[in-house]
This record gives sequence, C-alpha cells and structure tokens, in this order.
Amino acid sequence: MEFQKQTIRQLSEMLQKKELTAKELTAETLKNIKEKEKDIDAFLTICEEEALQEAKKVDQAFDTYASPLKGIPMALKDNMVTKDIRTTCASKILENFIPPYDGTMAARLKERGAVLTGKLNLDEFAMGSRTEYSAMKPTKNPYDLTRTPGGSSGGSAAAVASGEIPYALGSDTGGSIRQPASYCGVVGLKPTYVRVSRYGLVAFASSLDQIGPITRSVEDAALVLNEIAGYDPMDSTSVNCSVPDYTKALTGDIKGLKVALPKEYFGEELHPGVKEEILKAVGYLEKLGAKVEEVSLPHTKYGIAAYYIIAPAEASSNLARYDGVRYGVRAKEYKDLIDLYEASRSEGFGEEVKRRIMLGTFALSSGYYDAYYLKAQKVRTLIKEDFAKVFADYDVIVGPTAPATAGKLFQAAKDPMEDYLLDVYTVPANMAGVPGISVPIGFSENMPVGLQIFGRHFDEETVLKTAFAVEQEVCFDTTKGARR
Ligand code: GLN
Repeated sequence: MEFQKQTIRQLSEMLQKKELTAKELTAETLKNIKEKEKDIDAFLTICEEEALQEAKKVDQAFDTYASPLKGIPMALKDNMVTKDIRTTCASKILENFIPPYDGTMAARLKERGAVLTGKLNLDEFAMGSRTEYSAMKPTKNPYDLTRTPGGSSGGSAAAVASGEIPYALGSDTGGSIRQPASYCGVVGLKPTYVRVSRYGLVAFASSLDQIGPITRSVEDAALVLNEIAGYDPMDSTSVNCSVPDYTKALTGDIKGLKVALPKEYFGEELHPGVKEEILKAVGYLEKLGAKVEEVSLPHTKYGIAAYYIIAPAEASSNLARYDGVRYGVRAKEYKDLIDLYEASRSEGFGEEVKRRIMLGTFALSSGYYDAYYLKAQKVRTLIKEDFAKVFADYDVIVGPTAPATAGKLFQAAKDPMEDYLLDVYTVPANMAGVPGISVPIGFSENMPVGLQIFGRHFDEETVLKTAFAVEQEVCFDTTKGARR
C-alpha cells in the first residue's frame, strides 16, 4: 500500500477503521523516507527506532482514540527542541547538541500520539530562504531536483511535497513557512504571533518567530492547528484565549467575503507567470461570490529594510548564548576565555549567521541605535497600521506568496540583498503579527505557485476558510508523485 499521497484525514480514517496499524504505517513511511532521501535530503536526523516504538505504543492504546494526529507520522524542523534527539538548527555550533527536554511542540504532539520520524533541514538558525545556508547539506525541491525548496523550512516543505511524510512543523520569522510551501506546492500556515507556543523553538528573532504546519491540504492545516494552538504557561508571551475547531470554518461558502488586493503586491518584481496564476485564483474567489477590491498597504516597500534591522538585532542578542561553554561545539585551541568564545563562534557559525550577528550588533550599538533600530521599529508600527486600516473594511488580504517560483540551487545572487528582497510579500505579516497562509494554486514554467492569504489577528478561521474555497476550485494535487 502506498501512503505517500494521503492526507492526515485519510490516514486517520484508515487507522480508526483498523485497515492499518500505526506500526505498519510508520514502518512503510520510514522505508519510503529512506528511499526518497537519496534525492531530496530533507532530513538531518531520522529516528527510526523511536518512531517504531512510539507507533507500537499508539497501537496498544488505540481504543482511547482522541486526536486525528494519533498514529500519524510527522517530522519537526530541526530548530524545535526534542528530548534525547539531536537538535542542530543545521549549525556546526549545535552539531552535537542533545536537548534534555521536549519543547512544547514535541511534547504536545507526543501527547496526541503523533509519531516523530525525524528532524528536518533548514537554513542555519532559520536565517535564509533557500536551505543552502544549512551547514549540513542543501535540500532539493521535489518538483525539480536542481532547484531550491525555498527556506528556511525547506526540509519541512520538501519532505511533505515529496510524499515522505503527511505533515511537518516549520517556523516562520519572515516567511519561512509560507515561501517554501509555495515553492514546493504544499500548504503552509503561519498562525498569528503567539497563537502557537514558542517554548523549545530555538529563538531567531523572538518578536517575529512563529511555528506552524506544512501540510498537503488546507483541512490538514486546520487539523494540526487545532492540536498545536493555545495557551502554554511555559511561553510568557502565550495568550490565554480559546482555540476554536478550525475545521468548522471549512465550509466552501465565501459568498460576500470582502477580499482586499494590495496594489503593492503586484509591482515590477512580480514574475508575469506568477501574476497570471494569482489573478486566476482571484477570479475563482470572485466566482464564488467574494467581493474583491484593490487597496493599498503603502509601507510595504519599507518592510524589507526594517525587517533586516529588527530580525538581525534580535538574533545578535539571541545567539549570544552560543559561546562554546554552555552549548554545542567548543574550539579545540584557545588561549583564554575570550579567545575560547571567539574561536568557538568563528568556527561554529556560518557565513550568513555571522552576517546577521554583525548587522544586528551594529544596529544596536550606541550612536546607531536611534538611526537604525528605533527607526525600524517606527516603520514596523506603520506597517501594523496599514494592516489595521485595511482589516477595518475587509476580511482577508490576498496576493502572491513570493515574486517568483523556486530558483536553481547554488545560484543565489552574489549580493545577499538581492535574496533578501524576495521576502517582500512575506515579511509584513510577521512585522504586523497577523496570520498568513500559502496555498498552491498552479504552475509557472512547471514550478508551483502559491497564493498568500492574510487575516486579522487570531482570525485563522477566515484565512483557512478562504484557502479551502480556493483549494476546492483549483484541485491542485499536492503530492509530487501524483502531479496532474
Ligand atoms: N528569509 C527570511 C530571513 O532570512 C525569513 C527567515 C525565516 O522566516 N525564518 O530572515
């Protein structure tokens, strides 16, 4: 039996009907992962024994069925802490780090009976958009192995798109769930900031970081969000507000929905083939009875400049803890304590991480703080206000997830700024804290295109409802193996 094309919902039904055991599903999944990994390189660690053992436990307790995630194999981006399982952030500095505890995601999913099959590749410390900044290896795009899967959750998106696993969790600081989902033709949801606990997520930029699901269907994204959202006393920013059943929003009925189309998301940088697909999807929304109007998010063009000050500033502070003493790898040769810090950090961090630390340290240093950091924070407020104004009159904002489809591997621009600019459509949602999803809608030159949908704070329901309606119209097959 081939399980590579099924959604969580379908697999869960098979388990409930006892057509399949969790052990069989897990064994088959692991076999498939090993086979596909020869091409894809999405996994940094495969937990074969742990997964089989967990599946066995699930089978023994299957009568106490509760969660649709029970018995379903999955994997986590390797910046989510897992007890006794190596957590590297794809960095040499954490290459030997085995956490003594489970983060909230690992703990919650385990509690629900989900089966962890492994840890997924990313750009080092989630800084990047191609998964090429991984210190371990680059991941390939399942649609074209010569192309990047996007990043930084490139391992998560590629593993789901290739049929290795039905879902994965990723993290999104400036687009790292939505952009790889778009490049790999799968669904990627960044929930509202603080909707999902960050306890045990290795911090990149704490005011922007958010965990979310990457799945093969919008319904699966809702199912996973049902389980991972909600209050966590271990995360001091977590909010104690109720979690609805997100699957209830998936009615397909969007008659009267007010949809905003921001003109700044259709600028010169947007590839014509991508634009064409996006406008087609907008046409589906109209056909289904939504009212679509053009709006302006006037500060969009300052988003990248402000993000690439704020995110590195927070990163420079968050990454100060990797000193060769408390975590991970320590330099072999050093003269004194300062030299130990310097040597460990010089050897342990890659080029992009060092660039961010330097940028951030500079932006926070006295004399430059007001000119850069403070100014960027003011821009952030303006971006938030742009969203608030539009959401006063509209239910969702839609546009492209990325200006182009997945580029060739190892052909990043020489100037990192050119790569940064490609985050133009994803960064604003993190700056404003609003939820955003990327849903696959078609192809441009044989590579998948994603439609991005933003909603009001804590209104993932309307985001999912809209994405579901589009998905039903488009009938995009999210498994590479069964591409139409
Ligand atoms: N590409 C962006 C960056 O490099 C976003 C990364 C992320 O969301 N983790 O910062």
